[in-house]
Amino acid sequence: MAPRGFIWHSTYSCAYDALLTIIYNVWRENPVKWSRELQVNDSMTLLLNGFEEIQEGSRTMESCRDDLRKALNIMDCHRFPLRRGEGTSVAELCNELFKVQDLGTVTSDCHTCGSSKDVPIETLLFNCYAQAEIHTNETPRLTIKHWLSSYLAPSGVYHGVRCCGQNVQTITALRKTPCFFAFSIAHSNLALTRSLTLTVNKKKRLTLRGIVYFGEFHFTCRFITKSRDVYFNDGAQTGWQCILEGNLENMDIYSLLTCRGKSASLALYMQSL
Ligand SMILES: [Zn+2]
Repeated sequence: MAPRGFIWHSTYSCAYDALLTIIYNVWRENPVKWSRELQVNDSMTLLLNGFEEIQEGSRTMESCRDDLRKALNIMDCHRFPLRRGEGTSVAELCNELFKVQDLGTVTSDCHTCGSSKDVPIETLLFNCYAQAEIHTNETPRLTIKHWLSSYLAPSGVYHGVRCCGQNVQTITALRKTPCFFAFSIAHSNLALTRSLTLTVNKKKRLTLRGIVYFGEFHFTCRFITKSRDVYFNDGAQTGWQCILEGNLENMDIYSLLTCRGKSASLALYMQSL
């Protein structure tokens, strides 16, 4: 079963093409289980219903993508424009599709005034910007694995929250181990890892399943199959075809940070189902 990509549309569909190529091809490996696990919000449910119709042959991949675009545009026409000449940010799209409830909380306690604030974690997209800068000169190069363990450190991290004129530590506590998540790495200098292990209520191993790249106002992607074959897709250049580039085991992990002149923007990790 060769992976398939979404054919680009001139109304700047590339953020959708890149992200959906990864999600769709992962879903196709086990539709029953992934339909259950990915059904975290209404936008994702709409997308999953579309995937099922693609599989039944009753609609095209592109019309499924366009229905999601229309629904998101009605919800927020500024973040999700439909006109030619206005692009959508892949981070905004991923943030929306990966919205969850009851995942956990971020707590910040100010030791000066004694105030304490709890904010729910609302998405499975983690923004790696803030922490990465602290470590820029360290060797060996920091990876997403390092970032995640510092982000989830029980002692907390400085994450841009301020109170009483100073930075306040935040403690991020997950309630359960998610079976998929994404990292926004566009403004970090973090390297990728092939897999991550996370234990909250259950130990889960999540593997790198896709990377979205950005450059020159266009998104492309690499999708990684269950058997770790790495495929490239650019909806505007390769259309529905995905090009086999190699196997993740034999590829230099650092080389995956760039792709044909573009830089990695999002990385998706998912459990093997
Ligand atoms: Zn304070």
